[in-house]
Amino acid sequence: MSFRESEERQALRTAAAELGRRYGYEYYVQQARSGGHTTELWQEAGKLGYLGVNLPEEYGGGGAGIGELSTVLEELGAAGCPLLMMVVSPAICGTVIARFGTDEQKQRWLPGLADGSLTMAFAITEPDAGSNAHKLTTTARRDGDDWVLSGRKVFISGIDVADAVMVVGRTEDARTGKLKPALFVVPTEAPGFEWQGIDMELVSPDRQFSLFFDEVRLPADALVGSEDAGLLQLFAGLNPERIMASAMATGTARHALDKAVAYVKERSVWSTPIGAHQGLSHPLAQIKIELELARLMTQKAAFLYDSGDDTGAGEAANMAKYAAAEVSTRAVDQAVQSLGGNGLTTEYGVASMVAAARLARVAPVSREMILNFVAQNALGLPKSY
Ligand SMILES: Cc1cc2nc3c(=O)[nH]c(=O)nc-3n(C[C@H](O)[C@H](O)[C@H](O)COP(=O)(O)OP(=O)(O)OC[C@H]3O[C@@H](n4cnc5c(N)ncnc54)[C@H](O)[C@@H]3O)c2cc1C
Repeated sequence: MSFRESEERQALRTAAAELGRRYGYEYYVQQARSGGHTTELWQEAGKLGYLGVNLPEEYGGGGAGIGELSTVLEELGAAGCPLLMMVVSPAICGTVIARFGTDEQKQRWLPGLADGSLTMAFAITEPDAGSNAHKLTTTARRDGDDWVLSGRKVFISGIDVADAVMVVGRTEDARTGKLKPALFVVPTEAPGFEWQGIDMELVSPDRQFSLFFDEVRLPADALVGSEDAGLLQLFAGLNPERIMASAMATGTARHALDKAVAYVKERSVWSTPIGAHQGLSHPLAQIKIELELARLMTQKAAFLYDSGDDTGAGEAANMAKYAAAEVSTRAVDQAVQSLGGNGLTTEYGVASMVAAARLARVAPVSREMILNFVAQNALGLPKSY
């Protein structure tokens, strides 16, 4: 076991950090506030091979793993440009297609997901199901060779920049009983598919949408993987999602901590810089410790996932996501406090991170659902629901 990153990984980290710094938080916020997107950064990251670093080489990817992809996202987040769609497009959708897709599906999607010329959103959340995926009602029925999909999704990120969306539904004969999900790729221009933006208070260029599928006709090969192994396939995508969400949150925490530390070193209102007062230095030191712990768990989860241990990765990915969400929330809050009034100004760019940092406690899986998972799986405690 080595706690030292390989030279290749370090080089990737340095290069991704350099790319992120060239754009920076001002660019990210400006795109968010003007209704723009991070298209230039996305395309450049794609051209450099960063977006597809986890995807198979034979389909245009880098042939590495989630460890590498999450390194890129952490560094972009630390530079102030957390690309949310990296969690979705190459990590969830790319992984599921690479692991379970047919050769034609891989040819159709993976090269574009890898170089960033195609983006795929991911839709599991439904208004009446929420955290309870067993209540999903988006349903596909067979009609000859085709599928006909109907249902509703909510809070789906990035449909406005996506070419397609991977939808978690269920097949008609599996409407009741235990969740038996089936995954469908739906092109965004498919007739019968509409969406509507949701007004959110996050300062982010990645927006959320309600999706409406009204008898959307799909060809047979819209189904990714088998109808019968749906849950396994879904989890294969959800572990990378959690690892990537952790990396995004630790990146955000680093960005906030860096801003706070730089400020308290410079600002003096008594005889020393305010960073000398333990009322500020101790909470910042605590955040540094919790941040390194969260990063370590994220790296462990990625290592387990990349070495093929889906079960071990599941527990570690949940724990990493929990720890990363806590530290990103606390880091941004403490950064606001450290900057005093400036912490709430537009100029210093800290208050604008509050909602986005907090998001990690809610999505892609809430803090409470992670605690339920750990209570039941790691501690063997009974379920309340
Ligand atoms: C910015 C943003 C982006 C998103 N992007 C996507 C996306 O791209 N694709 C997608 O599919 N979804 C996306 N989501 C949805 C996200 O995954 C859900 O919001 C999240 O899973 C929680 O579901 P919910 O909002 O329905 O909350 P609910 O399930 O209604 O939960 C509300 C509260 O109740 C708690 N709770 C529920 N059940 C229990 C229980 N058994 N025990 C204890 N507490 C419980 C929850 O923890 C939470 O605190 C996004 C959400 C946001 C905010």
